[in-house]
Amino acid sequence: DAQQLFATLNRLDGKGYKAYRDIQGAWQFSGFQLIVDHCQGDPYAAPSRLRVQMPATVAALPPELWSSKLRRIALGDWLARKLAAEANRASAAAAGQAQGWHGAKGGDVTVDLPGQHVLERTAVLVSTAGDVEARFTVGLPAQGRSIMGPWAGQILTQHLARAVQAALMYPALDGASIWRHITTVEDTEVLRAALPGLGLVGFVGDGAILPRKSGASDLPMPPSAGLVPFSSPASLAVEVALPHRGRVRGMGIKQGITLIAGGGFHGKSTLLQALEAGVYNKVPDDGRELVVMLPDAVKVSAEDGRRVEAVDISNFINNLPGGSSTVAFRSDDASGSTSQAANIQEALELGASVLLMDEDTCATNFMMRDARMAALVAPAKEPITPFSSRIALLRAAGISTVLVMGGSGDYFEHADTVIVMDNYLPSDQTQAAHAIAAQHAATMAAVTEAAPAAAAAAAVGQPVRGGVKVTPRVPQCVYAGGQNDYRGVKTHVRGLHHIQYGDQDIQLSAAEQLVDKSQTRAVADALKWLQAQLQRQQQQQQQQGGKTLLQWLNELDAAIEQQGLDVLAPQLLGNLARPRRFEVAAAINRIRTLQMTQQQQQQQQ
Ligand code: ADP
Ligand code: MG
Repeated sequence: DAQQLFATLNRLDGKGYKAYRDIQGAWQFSGFQLIVDHCQGDPYAAPSRLRVQMPATVAALPPELWSSKLRRIALGDWLARKLAAEANRASAAAAGQAQGWHGAKGGDVTVDLPGQHVLERTAVLVSTAGDVEARFTVGLPAQGRSIMGPWAGQILTQHLARAVQAALMYPALDGASIWRHITTVEDTEVLRAALPGLGLVGFVGDGAILPRKSGASDLPMPPSAGLVPFSSPASLAVEVALPHRGRVRGMGIKQGITLIAGGGFHGKSTLLQALEAGVYNKVPDDGRELVVMLPDAVKVSAEDGRRVEAVDISNFINNLPGGSSTVAFRSDDASGSTSQAANIQEALELGASVLLMDEDTCATNFMMRDARMAALVAPAKEPITPFSSRIALLRAAGISTVLVMGGSGDYFEHADTVIVMDNYLPSDQTQAAHAIAAQHAATMAAVTEAAPAAAAAAAVGQPVRGGVKVTPRVPQCVYAGGQNDYRGVKTHVRGLHHIQYGDQDIQLSAAEQLVDKSQTRAVADALKWLQAQLQRQQQQQQQQGGKTLLQWLNELDAAIEQQGLDVLAPQLLGNLARPRRFEVAAAINRIRTLQMTQQQQQQQQ
């Protein structure tokens, strides 16, 4: 029990650091169990991993707080924030004690603190029976390389125990705050689920605060004279009834093609960024609780220099100089336009139904070509079919586009909706834009093609998604370096957008919908998961055909759905959050050791 743990730690005082391993295992405290899963090997290694398990009878959380999976996620998120705050207090108390000791190191109790998004995560898990498991790390204290037994004992049996009692037992908690957390998330989820029935792909609630505090902070812009809350133009306004808030009004983003125009600095990109993040639920007071997008909306941009492996970009690019294939395009250093084409195709390969694009991060020659340029450069010499000539085809295939475009009117005739941002407020200028398009011929070059790529693809029996050519790929190898045991290859998450996998650096800056470093950690583990699956398959000589990337990622999603994020890693970790399959694929697609083949059989039906 707790006293035995305290006694054990006292006995270990002054011993070599590795003797901390003696405390691995479970210890019964009053009301909960403390499990020491793994003790770090030395004071400078990654901190030790611990868990607390508290039965439902002790946590005493009212059942309505954990009656659905979404509520358990929101509740776990609230508890993680609370426990993180209490753990900080525990760490501070421990640090206060350490002042008397010379050269003391360690003592920090750390809980993975969520940001503005409420994601499925492993920091605090609430079971279907209302039991609570909290995971955290502790830097076990050392003086030099010797164990500080009594101090460790105080941290684990006193400071930590106090934090657990203050954060995980319902009578001590702010029940109203928890309920608000849960109902906020539930309303957002209901709003998102209502979109298809309303013919919408997105929604921005009246009163929403879209701008953030700064480029480096995801917190809402604080109230000030200059802050303009969102307000929908009447013609685009939609009302939705939510279970907790009741009726809300806001701007519906319709299926099809939506253009966001307006002068520079009038809030176009801010609106798009809020929509990008609209695939996730938010904490109360974030300002974007009523900003939602379909869960499979994907932001795409140009990303020159990226690796591309066997992607069919022939919807957009054909006849490259040097004769490289665009049906199975490979490059270690893609250009702006080819990388953007690849990013779009990779999103479609995984079933994206909405593409989000901002002119600020698009390749100009991919987005448009005017008549003058077509006169100078013969169409036969131009490999690119600009996006403006494909956007209608995408719409016909059920793929919507939301495009920020302030610099050209060439998309007017295609747009179902044209929103103009003016001093951070939207107005519906669809009719005006269509009238202008009818009056002024587009500057855009008419693109004539011998045979549309999709028709050609269908003719040779290649997969086509509603007229848009998408060729599924079959992963063969994610990472070839290191030994066969995938666990022997180290991954390290260096930042929200940076994974190191063995000797490979994976840059994910273009995966703008990755919003939490804990998601990135899960993505890194998913890479190893896929590599392990591929190796197992090859050992069992089952390579005939092989599963497509989409099939693998569906399998991964199903496994997470059933068993939680723990399926991703051999250890129980408290710092994972769930990524979407698009962000997992973003990392797979960018690792330079990736080997893919294309699925050649006809996929239709
Ligand atoms: P654009 O893409 O149209 O050039 P941005 O979206 O980048 O413009 O916005 C320009 C600036 O205006 C940013 O600094 C942003 O934080 C700020 N901003 C955006 N929306 C609002 C708003 N509703 N209220 C106050 N400031 C805003
Ligand atoms: Mg902009």
